[in-house]
Amino acid sequence: MTLINGKEVAEIIKGELKHKVDQFTSRGERPPHLAAVLIGKNPASLAYVNNKVKSCSQCGFRSTLIQKDPDISESDLLKLVAELNEDQDIDGFIVQLPLPHHINEQKIILAIDPNKDVDGFHPINFGKMAQGLPCYLPATPYGITLLLEHYNIETSGKHVVVVGRSNIVGTPISILLSRKGRGGDATVTLVHSRTKNINEFIRMGDIVVAAIGIPEFIKEAMIKPGAVVIDVGINRVEDSGQATGYRLTGDVDFNNVAAKCSFITPVPGGVGPMTVVSLMMNTFQAYSRKHNL
Ligand code: NDP
Repeated sequence: MTLINGKEVAEIIKGELKHKVDQFTSRGERPPHLAAVLIGKNPASLAYVNNKVKSCSQCGFRSTLIQKDPDISESDLLKLVAELNEDQDIDGFIVQLPLPHHINEQKIILAIDPNKDVDGFHPINFGKMAQGLPCYLPATPYGITLLLEHYNIETSGKHVVVVGRSNIVGTPISILLSRKGRGGDATVTLVHSRTKNINEFIRMGDIVVAAIGIPEFIKEAMIKPGAVVIDVGINRVEDSGQATGYRLTGDVDFNNVAAKCSFITPVPGGVGPMTVVSLMMNTFQAYSRKHNL
């Protein structure tokens, strides 16, 4: 069994990005600039955004964190999005989800200029992705494809079972892996909460992508011997043994599943760091396009 080290791959890619950025800045160009909007003080969101800001500095990017109170109105947030769309100094920006209940997330996503939508959530980018056109790929699925590529894991002709059909993970990764061409060409089954006999489908997977949000949902008996298991889940479970009072666990029962796999991602340190690095890749793409580099 090979443990897929997302942290290590992410460091390599960040180092490559930093090298490219240094070349541009040494010629007098300004660095890429990512802005992140954080509404409220949800601890998980704050941790994610801080990680993104830290990654920007590791890549030589400039970052701007815009924090707003949780009672910001939808119209004020839309106004902020419009300002960021217009700001020539910012290459791309994200609005960290989830948003407070009084704000319609879809409305905010639709308001973001698709050219600056480095999260790849706007329907224009999603549609382009589905048709194989140049676009910003959604960060987590993009990160998964980079991991598979780094470890030379063949997808062509393989049966991939994706568990979960969200717009940000399950559905886009099922599209990317089933597309014609390198890194795709898989036969994909997408299962979800209404799937009957779900265990039987998962057991057929040469590659299983778990994006459910239920701690340790995928058990050893559900995995075919030698399968590749990509665990996207990040769940906080109570653990009095930790100073924080919780620990992070994935959607896969790692301790019992790992020995049965050919490759498996840990949580943390698997897909998570790749999501952040994909955001950096998209920001660099936005910067390059804007500067015709
Ligand atoms: P969502 O809650 O949006 O989607 C969960 C999906 O799982 C849904 O399609 C749902 O089905 C399905 N599901 C729920 N319960 C079951 C069940 N009992 N059997 C089968 N399918 C089920 O979650 P996300 O996709 O946003 O996130 C999934 C996990 O990945 C979470 O733990 C999240 O924290 C993590 N995550 C990690 C990221 C990273 O960078 N590593 C990035 C994004 C998310 P249905 O559609 O029928 O309701």
